[in-house]
Amino acid sequence: MRNIWIYESWRLARFVLPALLLGWVFNVEVLLLFLALLLFILHQYRQFNKVYKWLGSSLDADPEVTGAWEELVYRIYRKRKRSRSRKKNLSNMLRRFQDSVSMMPDAAIVLDKENNILWLNPAARQTLNLSNDDIGNNLANLIRMPTFVNFLKNAKDSEAYEMQSPVDEKESLDLRQMPYGVGQRLLLIRNITQVQRLKSMRQEFVANVSHELRTPLTVILGYLESLQDSDDLTADEIKLQLAKLQAPAYRMNQIVVDLLLLSRLDLDVPADLNDSPSQDMQVLLAMLKKDGEQLSQGRHTIILKNNVTVKLKAVETEIYSAISNLISNAIRYSPDGGDIIIETRLDKNGYQISVSDQGLGIPAIHQSRLTERFYRVDAGRSREVGGTGLGLAIVNQILRRHDARLIIMSTPGKGSTFSCLFPLSRVQSDAQD
Ligand code: ADP
Repeated sequence: MRNIWIYESWRLARFVLPALLLGWVFNVEVLLLFLALLLFILHQYRQFNKVYKWLGSSLDADPEVTGAWEELVYRIYRKRKRSRSRKKNLSNMLRRFQDSVSMMPDAAIVLDKENNILWLNPAARQTLNLSNDDIGNNLANLIRMPTFVNFLKNAKDSEAYEMQSPVDEKESLDLRQMPYGVGQRLLLIRNITQVQRLKSMRQEFVANVSHELRTPLTVILGYLESLQDSDDLTADEIKLQLAKLQAPAYRMNQIVVDLLLLSRLDLDVPADLNDSPSQDMQVLLAMLKKDGEQLSQGRHTIILKNNVTVKLKAVETEIYSAISNLISNAIRYSPDGGDIIIETRLDKNGYQISVSDQGLGIPAIHQSRLTERFYRVDAGRSREVGGTGLGLAIVNQILRRHDARLIIMSTPGKGSTFSCLFPLSRVQSDAQD
């Protein structure tokens, strides 16, 4: 700073001293001093003008000034450059933040004090059916649902509110808002429909399991109480009573076995296509036919039409369990004397194993729900024939683990066909061997 004063004083001297010298020689000191000062002021004014213009420009070109002005320009240039790079960093950070919030699956909206929208991400546009044109508008005017407006006005910071979606009544949302920036709020909305659905499925499942186990348990308790109350029973009568406990106990056991199998299937990683050993389906199907005949005890004719010889990349026990469940259902839901046909087919859609019966058949409204856990068309009949309501759920889960699907075709009174369709990727046919 001191240098600037020395420099400027020296410059002033360069204007004044020659004028004084000349003025002294020609005896016009005052006039020449006045002219020298005027020239100095004009010079300063030119410098100032250059700096002024330079300040209004992009600052890249040098204003070509000297002395104190040069120093001033240099200091301004340095400050502006620093603030420019700080601004650039900040806007980069803001862009990165907005990019990551944009990618978020949850809706995010920035609101001002009056609930006017300042910013929103794509998920918010989708969740609340908003568009970029709504920026600047009041959210409470755009979504007029009373519970939503009440949430906007009265919700406590970060507290979660669950409510029906204002856009689709079948969807549930979890909303929370929190302070954000100066005088702003961030509104976060998550779609929890799936979580709610799973929650209610779990509750329903627990209620079903309890109900299924309670029925045979009540029977067992009833027999045990009557055994306890009657002191004068003979050994044969006691044996008879105890024998009656067998069926409900077997039923409970079967339910637990099926539930354990299902939970194992749910937890285990699916059967990997590459790791799965190839199963000779000819051998497996012959065994299944034999087991079916054993179960039917001659009440049905079981026919195996194995049209193609293939090896299936699959877990043997699981495939065996799935097909045997279908054969067992065909036997249990068919009147005596009917045919049960196990048939295979290989075409461009894949490898299909179907089990057909000439039994009761299933009304169309039930068909899509048969693979739900504990779903039965006729619960009484199912229990009568020893069903747990879990068989088709197990079949479905096994098939899913093998990238396969279950196809149900049924006509009430005529019969049903349950088919397992495996993708060609799981098939190793004779031709490929
Ligand atoms: P369940 O142990 O009760 O047999 P499943 O899950 O195996 O349970 O089958 C669900 C329901 O589907 C059965 O209760 C029955 O009403 C119906 N069902 C299954 N297979 C057949 C079939 N082959 N014919 C008629 N109804 C069937």
